Amino acid sequence: MTGPDAKRIYLSPPHLDGREQEYLLRAFDSNWITTCGPQVDAFEQDICARTGIRHGVALASGTAALHLGLLILGVGPGDEVLCSTLTFAASANAIVYCGATPVFIDSDRETWTMDPRLLAEELERALRRDRRPKAVLVVDLYGQCADYGPIRETCSRYNLPVLEDAAEALGATYQGAAAGKFGALGVFSFNGNKIITTSGGGMLVSDNREYIDRARFLSTQARDPAPFYQHSHIGYNYRLSNLLAALGQAQLERLSEKILRKKAIQEQYRQALADLPGITFMPEAPYGCSNGWLTVLLIDPERFGSDREAVRLALEADRIESRPIWKPMHMQPVFDCSEGGSPISGSETGPGQGRVKSRAVGGPVSEDLFARGLCLPSGAQLTEEDLERIIAIIQRCRR
Ligand SMILES: *Cc1c(COP(=O)(O)O)cnc(C)c1O
Repeated sequence: MTGPDAKRIYLSPPHLDGREQEYLLRAFDSNWITTCGPQVDAFEQDICARTGIRHGVALASGTAALHLGLLILGVGPGDEVLCSTLTFAASANAIVYCGATPVFIDSDRETWTMDPRLLAEELERALRRDRRPKAVLVVDLYGQCADYGPIRETCSRYNLPVLEDAAEALGATYQGAAAGKFGALGVFSFNGNKIITTSGGGMLVSDNREYIDRARFLSTQARDPAPFYQHSHIGYNYRLSNLLAALGQAQLERLSEKILRKKAIQEQYRQALADLPGITFMPEAPYGCSNGWLTVLLIDPERFGSDREAVRLALEADRIESRPIWKPMHMQPVFDCSEGGSPISGSETGPGQGRVKSRAVGGPVSEDLFARGLCLPSGAQLTEEDLERIIAIIQRCRR
């Protein structure tokens, strides 16, 4: 069925097809209805086993994990942090939570992730100006790892730590190793739209035990080891609920199946649409394997005869949700990347207080991707019928 009574198709809805209920009830019955417990511990171990990363701390969100990750790398007021511009706001927001200034680096045309050459150029300039950034926040976009070979080579030459935002990339690989492993610390998200979900949740991971111990301490209100409540540091209430960790365990058991299904969906879109003039897909870089989280395509309005927005509205008219790709951070009203008064000295405002002074390095690539890119429904539960409906509407938009 199509039209106003058609079944609503969402972009990336939760997909609970495993032992979620059983594990949730087990956690419920154990009475660990709190932010610690056997399921939290087990979920951390499961993620470590799956990714080959040594240590992890389960947190209330990916955003909380980014915030703690930056704090552990020593990011504070007045610092600059280089960050992928093509990302979800949470990556940049976490930098501002620390009082630091984001410097947004444009995408590479071939991978859509941070351009390693722009990063190297910016670091050279920064050091000539004697303004060392504190860290580099690299985003794995739509399930595809950034190009960590050159990125890590540059960063280690300048002795700069990388924080890997792998919120969208659980299960992806780069040269055979798991996403999340390529920084001093890595971040996963289990938000409702991610490849696995705990409804809300995240994890900070690292091979460095001290980092994760410190994050665990800060995430549980920074309680000193004493019989009474004593605090020598300002902490946070950032831990994951034990009930939600139970969901995470069940979801993770199905991750491989979800990836296979998402790759099959991507392949079906490609077969049906890739030959249309003016349609191209997000390139899968040869250095790794994407987890297929979202299928994303680019529409060239000249050649296709309709633009991205026309296609989005045609899908929406049939109750199908699609979304433009992330609006780059350097284009966001909240980040003031205008020239003038360089070098900048920290954020002039804080969270919730208006515009934040920041800076952009390049930008045309991500601006073009934003103008033409569309994320298609990619839920693992999409049926053949759903896919045919979506594909037919896109085909009909061609003029
Ligand atoms: C979803 C997402 C986050 C934030 O994760 P939450 O769990 O929603 O806080 C951070 N970065 C990227 C790139 C994301 O896609």
